[in-house]
Order: sequence, then C-alpha cells, then structure tokens
Amino acid sequence: MSSVVLSIGSNLGDRAQNLRDAVVRLESVILPGSLRVSGLYETEPVDCPPDSPSFLNAVIAFETELEADTLLNETQKIERNLGRPLEREKNAPRPVDLDILLYDDLSIATERLTIPHPRMLDRAFVLCPLAEIRGEFALSAKNSDQEGLLRLPDPLFSD
Ligand code: ATP
Ligand code: CA
Ligand code: CA
Ligand code: CA
Repeated sequence: MSSVVLSIGSNLGDRAQNLRDAVVRLESVILPGSLRVSGLYETEPVDCPPDSPSFLNAVIAFETELEADTLLNETQKIERNLGRPLEREKNAPRPVDLDILLYDDLSIATERLTIPHPRMLDRAFVLCPLAEIRGEFALSAKNSDQEGLLRLPDPLFSD
C-alpha cells in the first residue's frame, strides 16, 4: 500500500464537474476510506494561450495498491476519457489535468515520470491546497506567491 498525492485541475467546460468526474473515475484505485480532498482554488491563467479560462484546482490524497507508473497510466486514461486532446498547444485549455505530486517518500526520475512533481513547490495553486491536507507543507504554502489565487467557499463534494 502506498500514499499518493495528486494535483487536479480544469480550465475547460464545467470545471468543478470535470474534477468530480475525475475523482469518481479514480475510485477503483483508491483504497476505501482513504480519500482526502482539499478545498477548491481558482487561479488566473499564466503562460497560457490568449483568452484561456481561469483554472480550478484542488489536491487529493489517497492510499492505493498501484505502482506509480501504473497509476500514471490510469490518470492519463482518465484525462483522455474526459476529453483531453492527444496533441495540443503548450498549456492549452483542457477538461482535466492530473499530476502525481508525491508517491510515498519516493524519488522517481524516468522518461515519463518525475516524482516529486518538479514544479510543485513553485505553484501556489498546488501548495495551498496541499497544505490543507498535508500540514508539513503549510510553511512552503505560506511563503509562496499567492497573487491571483482565490479559495472558493464551496467544497468539491458536499455530503
Ligand atoms: P506541468 O507538468 O508543468 O504541470 P502539464 O501538466 O501541462 O505541465 P502534461 O502535458 O500534462 O504537462 O504532461 C506532460 C508529461 O509529463 C506526461 O506525458 C507525463 O509522462 C509527464 N510526467 C512526468 N512526471 C509526471 C508526474 N509526476 N505526474 C504526471 N505526469 C508526469
Ligand atoms: Ca508501501
Ligand atoms: Ca500540470
Ligand atoms: Ca499533467
């Protein structure tokens, strides 16, 4: 069993629904009772094509029996099934982007997978939701540039 943390983002279509759909599709790999979901954060697009919609982001953590590369296969399949084009302009809008931030305390550097995610510490839209569910990141979130980042009042899933 391994503990994983994923960044989930959307900037196309019904963004919150896309994030919910992605989490629901992950259910078969999530060990029952282990899922934690951060609040939702809205960010202005940076380094994106003109007129790109703003992003909705969250971080989720769960336990799984999958190896990291098998989990990546699964997250990529979900991205495609939710309408991500195979070829696209860099940072073009997409219904969902699923990035693996952490996998246990492993460091992985292969052709298709780098863990911890190499850009996570630069991104307030990753660090702020991450700090909500992994307290040890609260300090880095506090030091991050949070300009253009808004925490929304509504949870992704309401019970
Ligand atoms: P960024 O990685 O800066 O957030 P991005 O998410 O827009 O950019 P993508 O086009 O979604 O980048 O992914 C490009 C490639 O990144 C994928 O094909 C995948 O093989 C690779 N990759 C490497 N490390 C990871 C990781 N930790 N999680 C997800 N994908 C990864
Ligand atoms: Ca383990
Ligand atoms: Ca990404
Ligand atoms: Ca990605």
